[in-house]
Amino acid sequence: MDAKKELAILADEVRYHERAYRAGKPEISDGAFDELFDRYVALADELGVPEAERLDRTPGADHTDGFVQVEHRVPMLSLEKLTPNRKDSKGQPMPLGEQLGQWWQRRREDLELSSGTPLPVYIEPKIDGISVSLLYEHGALVRAVTRGDGKRGDDITRQVQSARAVPAHLGKKGSFEVRGELYWPRAAFDKHNALLRRNGEEEIANPRNGTAGMMKRKDPAGLELAGITSFLYQIPWFEGVSLPGRQSEVLAWLAEHGASVYLDQTHVCDSPQAALAYCEGYGAQRGKLPYDIDGMVLKIDELRHYEKLGGTGHHPHWGIAYKFPPERKVTRVVSIEVSVGKSGKLTPVANLEPVQLAGTTVVRASLHNFVELERKDVRLGDRVEVEKAGDIIPQVIKVVSHELGSVPFSRPTQCPACGNGVVTEEIFVYCPNPACTAQRRERLIHFASRRAMEIDGMGESLVGQVVDKLGVESPHQLFALTSGQLANLERMGKKSADNVVKALEAAKSRGLARVLYALAINHVGETMSEDLASYFGSAEKLLAFAERYVAGDAKTIAVVAPESGSGAIEGLARKTADSIFGELSSPAIRKVLDGLATAGVSLEAKTAARVEVAGVAGKTFVLTGTLPTLKRDEAGDLIKAAGGKTSGSVSKKTDFVVAGEEAGSKLDKAKELGVPVIDEAALLQMLGKA
Ligand code: AMP
Ligand code: ZN
Repeated sequence: MDAKKELAILADEVRYHERAYRAGKPEISDGAFDELFDRYVALADELGVPEAERLDRTPGADHTDGFVQVEHRVPMLSLEKLTPNRKDSKGQPMPLGEQLGQWWQRRREDLELSSGTPLPVYIEPKIDGISVSLLYEHGALVRAVTRGDGKRGDDITRQVQSARAVPAHLGKKGSFEVRGELYWPRAAFDKHNALLRRNGEEEIANPRNGTAGMMKRKDPAGLELAGITSFLYQIPWFEGVSLPGRQSEVLAWLAEHGASVYLDQTHVCDSPQAALAYCEGYGAQRGKLPYDIDGMVLKIDELRHYEKLGGTGHHPHWGIAYKFPPERKVTRVVSIEVSVGKSGKLTPVANLEPVQLAGTTVVRASLHNFVELERKDVRLGDRVEVEKAGDIIPQVIKVVSHELGSVPFSRPTQCPACGNGVVTEEIFVYCPNPACTAQRRERLIHFASRRAMEIDGMGESLVGQVVDKLGVESPHQLFALTSGQLANLERMGKKSADNVVKALEAAKSRGLARVLYALAINHVGETMSEDLASYFGSAEKLLAFAERYVAGDAKTIAVVAPESGSGAIEGLARKTADSIFGELSSPAIRKVLDGLATAGVSLEAKTAARVEVAGVAGKTFVLTGTLPTLKRDEAGDLIKAAGGKTSGSVSKKTDFVVAGEEAGSKLDKAKELGVPVIDEAALLQMLGKA
C-alpha cells in the first residue's frame, strides 16, 4: 500500500477509536490504541506531515453541550510515553531502559547539569480516571474544571462538590490550582453496576468512562452515593501561599492537609534501572489494588527546573509516563463471524476457545474492521494473542501461528443477516439495506439510547424483547406500546412498565436534532443533526429539500455546493450530502418520520434564543483560518445567535469574510470578489462583545 494511503487509513482509525472512546464505548484497549497511534506518529514523521495537519497536535477534547467552558491558566497537556514500539535509528526496537536513559540525559542537557550532579525523579502511580483542575481560594474549593482540549475545559464544580470527590477545604491561605485524577474505586463501581443490572439498565463499561459520565450529569443530586473519589498530584500555580520546592514534598503537603495521596506508593529514584525496576514491581501487584492504574508517572523532583525544561504543545518535558503492558493470553480462533451494526457496518468477530483473561472467561473478540483483520491476517484455526480493551472488551492483538493449509479470510460480499450485496466506504464495509433485520434491532437500541431519544429503561434487553415478543420493527412503533404489554415482559413489572411509558412520553419533545441523530442515518452524527435541524427548522422542510436534491434540481444542489467544496449548510460536503439526502428520501425513513409525527413526536427544531444585532442580522459570513480566541463553530454560533448566517464558501452573496491565521483560498476568493475581510476583533465589535 502506498504510504500516504496508509497514513490516511491510520488517521481514520485513530479518529474512529477516539470517538468511540469519548462516547464511552471503547473498542480497543489503551495499549492497542497507543500502538495504533504510535504507528500513525512514526509514519507521519517519515512522511514529514506538517504540525498543523497532524492528529498528535492537541489532546482530544471532552466538551459537553450545556457546560460552561473555562480557560486553563496553565494548559493541561498529555504526557510523553515510554513505549515498546519505539525504534532506534537502525529500525530496531528500543528497550524501555534505553528510552528512559535517553530522556533523562536530555533533561540533564536541557538543564546544563555537570556530570556529578544528581537529577532525582519522583515516581507516582498513574491512576486511570479523568483529570481535573481545582481552584482553591482562602482554603475553599471554588472551581473544578475538566481537561477539555487542554486549553479550555468544562466547569464541573457542582458535580465534583456533590460527589464529595475532592476536599472542600485545603489549607487556609492564598489561591492555588491543584491538578488531580477523579476516579471510581473498583468496589464502589461494581456496586453501582449491580444496581443498574437489577434495574434492567445498561451497565457502564469501566470505571473511567463511568467517572466521566457521572461528572457530566446535568443534575448532580445524589452523586455522593456513587463513591467517586480523587488522587491529587500537582500544584501548577499558586499565589499568596508558600509551598515546598519538590514534587515529593508537594504530595506530602497535600496529604497533610487532608487530600488523598498515596505516599506509600511513591518513590524517588536516581537511575533509569532503579526507576524501571520500581515501575515493574509496582505493576506486578496491580491487580490487587482497589482502583485501576494504567501506568506510572515519572517526574523531575525539583520543581524549580520546570520552567526551564518547558515542553511541546503536546506534553511537558518535566515528566514521562510508563504504561503497563496489558495482560495477554494465547488461544485459538474457532470461527470468524460477521456482525451487523445499526448503520449496517459489518464487523468481523472471532469466536475463541475459552481462555481466562483478567478475571473473566473470554470466548469472543472483536477484529474491528476488515482492513485491520487483513493487516493481522487472522484465519480460521489460528493461534492468536488476545487482550482486553479498557480491561473489558476482548480483542485479537496478533497471530502467533497459522494452521497448516489455512487460507486468508475473505471479505463478505453479502450481508450475513439479509443477504444484500455490501458496499465499501473508507475502511468499512456496509450492508446498504435499511430493512435489514440485524440493522433494525441495532437501530432501535440506538434510537432509545441516552444521547439519542433518551428513553429511560429502554435498554438492549428490553428492545430485544419488544422486537421478539411484541413485533416492534421500527422506532415509531415504540410509542404505541402500552404499560399492560410491557408489564408482561421478563424482568419488568407494573412499576417499571409505567416508567417506560412515561419515558416514551417525555421523549416526544426532544426536538428535530435528536430525532435525526436517533435515526442512525449514515454521516448524521450529533453535530450534523444539529446543523441540519438548525438550518431547516422542521422535518417537513428538510424532506422537501431532500426530494428536490435527489431529483437533481440544480438550485437545490447549489445550496450545498455552489461551485465546489461545501456550501450553505455547515460542514456538509457534496459527497456526504448525496448520501444523507438520498437516505432521507428513502421510503423507509419517510415511513418512520410519518409514523413519529402521527405518534406525536415533535419534528420541529428547538431554536436557541436569538437576539438580533443590527449589522449582523440577515448578513452572511464566511469563516476561514484559525481565529485568535474563538473556535470556528463558536464564532458561527455567535453570528447565528445575532441573526446572521454562516456559509462554507465565498460568493457574491457573502457579506463578510472573517479571516484568521493561515486563511487560504477563501481569503483569495474574497479579495477577487471584493468581499470585505475582517478579523476576529472586528467581528466581536460588530457583535457588541468587544
Ligand atoms: P495521557 O493523557 O495518557 O497523556 O497522560 C496524562 C494524564 O495522566 C493526565 O492528564 C492525568 O489525567 C493522568 N494522570 C494520572 N495520574 C497522574 C499523575 N500521578 N501525575 C500526572 N498525571 C496523572
Ligand atoms: Zn443486511
